[in-house]
Amino acid sequence: MAMKKRFIAGAVCPRCAEMDKIVMFTTDDGQYRECVACGFTDKQQDTEAAAELPTRVNTRKNEDDHTVKQVVFFKAGGDTEH
Ligand SMILES: [Zn+2]
Repeated sequence: MAMKKRFIAGAVCPRCAEMDKIVMFTTDDGQYRECVACGFTDKQQDTEAAAELPTRVNTRKNEDDHTVKQVVFFKAGGDTEH
């Protein structure tokens, strides 16, 4: 298994706060980062697959239903005497 690990320039380890100790590598399971100083590992979430997780734009409420329900009622008015 040859995993390519590469350092992420300027990355700071969230655990030990060391800079330039984070390497990134990819497995079949996804992309991981690892701190070579303290052994911290973390799976990267900002992949394209993860980007689909947030709810798909679902802002269409049922406004359509609302507007249709505004039925006009003034047919009962008896103002039609001539
Ligand atoms: Zn670390």
